[in-house]
Amino acid sequence: MTQSLTRIYLQVLLILLLCIGGAGYAGYLLVDDILLSSYQESAAQTSRVAADHINDQLSEHKKTLEVMARQPDVVSLLQRGTPTERERKQDELRSMLPGAVMVYLLARNSAGDLSSAETLDPTCLDFIRGPATAGMPPAPEFHEIGAPAEHYDMATTVRDESQKPVGYLLVKFSLEPLRTVIQQTLPPGGHMQLRQAVAEKPAQTVVEVGEAASADTAGVTSALGNNNWTLTYQSGETPPVILRGNRIYYAALILLAFTIMIIVLFRLYRRTLNAIRHDIRSLIRMFRDLREGSVRVDYPMALREFLEIFDYLRDRGQKLVKEKKKLKDMGLMDHLSQLGNRRHFEERLKELFESSKANGPSSVLMIDMDHFKKVNDVHGHDAGDALIVGFANALRKVVRQTDVLVRLGGDEFCIIYSYAPLTKATALVERLRKQLPREIPLTKGVVHRLRWTGGLSSMHDKDTKPDDVLWRADQALLQAKEGGRNITKVYDPASGPPEKKKILVG
Ligand code: GH3
Ligand code: MG
Repeated sequence: MTQSLTRIYLQVLLILLLCIGGAGYAGYLLVDDILLSSYQESAAQTSRVAADHINDQLSEHKKTLEVMARQPDVVSLLQRGTPTERERKQDELRSMLPGAVMVYLLARNSAGDLSSAETLDPTCLDFIRGPATAGMPPAPEFHEIGAPAEHYDMATTVRDESQKPVGYLLVKFSLEPLRTVIQQTLPPGGHMQLRQAVAEKPAQTVVEVGEAASADTAGVTSALGNNNWTLTYQSGETPPVILRGNRIYYAALILLAFTIMIIVLFRLYRRTLNAIRHDIRSLIRMFRDLREGSVRVDYPMALREFLEIFDYLRDRGQKLVKEKKKLKDMGLMDHLSQLGNRRHFEERLKELFESSKANGPSSVLMIDMDHFKKVNDVHGHDAGDALIVGFANALRKVVRQTDVLVRLGGDEFCIIYSYAPLTKATALVERLRKQLPREIPLTKGVVHRLRWTGGLSSMHDKDTKPDDVLWRADQALLQAKEGGRNITKVYDPASGPPEKKKILVG
């Protein structure tokens, strides 16, 4: 079955495109995943910076509160100060605390609770009572109600010299400084939310800055130290839309795509190579058959692209075989050399002479092997025959199909260079000398060093018969033999015999 190279290559191209597409897509996912990581990393960084700033502010407040709680007048005011005195001190402390909206000095009664004289929002009371009873320093806490309506409280226990609690210092802080910190850290387009966890309820929003992004935009949450506040950050940048997954799968996909590509290319290479080898084998078989004089009707071919040229070669081969058979049948072939014989030569020379007026002159090269007799004498007649066959085959290989090659008899051959004027024929003879082998094997172990003499001439307007050119070529050959052999002499019909004319030396 024949296959088309174009089709094979198209299939391969398709597979390669799919593989490249797959590898490209996997590569895109991989890069996207890496980009997402860096996006998340930078978002986490931003969130951490804001959380650190808030933490700094809160611990700063805590330290200040502790310093204030240790002031002797604060302790004595809580032990025995009048409400008016305490109020004055509260105002003084508030003016020293940036962001503080209210400061309370809350005295303890003998039962260890807040004195009944203290009036405070219930939420603030709860806040102060919790840690007061637990005896722990209270963490900041956001309160949505009371005065002011939105604030966060911080408190610390005030103790006397013997470390006995005498009351509490409670400060209501404005949310504004926190909002400012967030605004300063928040990149454009981003959204930050400071939230407070509430037991068994949704978290309360303490401060919110920026437009909340869509719900599917993942946020980065940082916990704030020492309390139940968290800071959530959503970047304003849209994160890459991707199929997030394990990077190893993407890498495996790329590897798979490249493996398929390599396999496909290797298979293509093997397939093409095998098909070409197969067709070359068919070609060799055909030439072998051609030499044996029987060309088959069909030779299996693998590649469609070669079919046309192969059919052409086979047709030409069949024609040649037929022509050879025809020559044989008509008695125009020399049996030993399988070349045309003298009769064939005379017919072709006549045809070319007759058409020379219309198509231009042809040239004739007479060839005679040197010292051929010696081969017969030394190695025997069979060796001489082998030399004739070997020389005929060598000539056949280098003489153009359009020229006429014959064996005139004995060791004498002739080539008619059809429609080739003398200059062209001279060049062809020079080429012939170069292309013919230096040696021809005769019998087993005997190799003959090939030497031959040539006489070349061409048809001329003044010629009256075909033999005229033949006569001149013979004269040239004679001169060449006399001139020392293994050379070619040219008889130019326009300028006379060749004695002193051009000699083509082999
Ligand atoms: P030169 O160099 O002058 O050409 O000398 P040469 O020895 O080649 O002599 P020449 O060409 O005159 O001789 C041709 C010889 O070829 C004469 C004959 O014995 C021999 N011969 C002719 N036909 C055949 C043949 O069919 N087979 C063999 N083996 N020899 C042949
Ligand atoms: Mg000879």
